[in-house]
Amino acid sequence: MSYQADEKGYYGEFGGAFIPEMLYPNCEELRQNYIRIMQEESFKQEFDQLLKDYVGRPTPLYFAERLSKKYNTKIYLKREDLCHTGAHKVNNTIGQILMAKKLGKNRIIAETGAGQHGVATATVCALMGIECVVYMGEIDIARQAPNVARMKMLGAEVRPALSGSRTLKDATNEAIRDWINNPVDTHYIIGSVVGPHPYPDMVARFQSVISEEIKWQLKEKEGREKPDFVIACVGGGSNAAGAYYHFLDETEVGIIAVEAAGHGIDSGESAATSALGKIGIIHGSKTLLMQTPDGQITEPYSISAGLDYPGVGPMHANLFATGRGEFISITDDDAMKAGLMLSKLEGIIPAIESSHAFAIFEDRKFKENDIVVVNLSGRGDKDLNTFIDYFKLA
Ligand SMILES: *Cc1c(COP(=O)(O)O)cnc(C)c1O
Repeated sequence: MSYQADEKGYYGEFGGAFIPEMLYPNCEELRQNYIRIMQEESFKQEFDQLLKDYVGRPTPLYFAERLSKKYNTKIYLKREDLCHTGAHKVNNTIGQILMAKKLGKNRIIAETGAGQHGVATATVCALMGIECVVYMGEIDIARQAPNVARMKMLGAEVRPALSGSRTLKDATNEAIRDWINNPVDTHYIIGSVVGPHPYPDMVARFQSVISEEIKWQLKEKEGREKPDFVIACVGGGSNAAGAYYHFLDETEVGIIAVEAAGHGIDSGESAATSALGKIGIIHGSKTLLMQTPDGQITEPYSISAGLDYPGVGPMHANLFATGRGEFISITDDDAMKAGLMLSKLEGIIPAIESSHAFAIFEDRKFKENDIVVVNLSGRGDKDLNTFIDYFKLA
């Protein structure tokens, strides 16, 4: 039994491609070609070169000495916060822009909520000189002005989604509509391990560079490739998928997924999908999803925009359902405290998403000799205003 996707894009009972007829040609073209293209020598060379010279990989695997002492175990940080643009998301957008070029596409669309994926997409479109349209809910455009400005500086067009709640899901609907109308020249860059097959598997493969590096870096530092535990925060699940990827079927490596409990699992304001979700279909994928008894998607909440998603990707739904992964949810308050704690202990200001992963050490104990790798998915610059308001720093 494997925890990887099968040929049809299923992780156990989760995944697949539940899409309208009119989207079938787009997804099918991608499905038939993505693995072949990713295995081409010229593709691999260009991908590796850009990850090295443009993104700044390999990112360090850093032994956090003071953090380790505090929690009495050996903690390593995988420094995705040092990637160009400040988070892991660019690993995927670099991969997908190269994929789009190989497929002969000359126009990119994307959807974004907080704007992080929009910025990562606009970045690689500028890099390649390719037209870029980013759909974003009207409400989110107002809330996320700095990222809207970044996208515009990078040459992207930001199109407001004016329907429904005017947030991420409405932006997603607009992007899908655009893709249906432009099947030949346009590639849709999805930002996490979500959406119809082959997206979850394709995005996981692009992000798998994270665990590929962890293996040889840990071998150098500790004489073995496998840690005892890998910990990552989960929104849609792409940084986690990348950090787990090469350990998924190595069951002696513990996998820990950290979700956002917002104001508390039972508060009605959270994004703790594993605790609250039921099987459903979102964005073309069968997965765990927060929904009302009659199947309406519940509005998620988290202080961190990147974890504010009502589902998880199918890989993670399967890790939860099979018990392969241990799922922990962390409240806003505990995440904020952990972000401040890491800043003071290690001189690293983490993204609030990543801060959730560090909060687990308060309750989840590890053995003194355990080697625990935490994926530090992004840096906290983008969250400074939230930190300022929360801790009254100004
Ligand atoms: C977007 C984001 C996340 C959540 O997305 P995943 O697909 O779950 O990784 C986590 N951390 C940071 C820093 C992000 O920008």
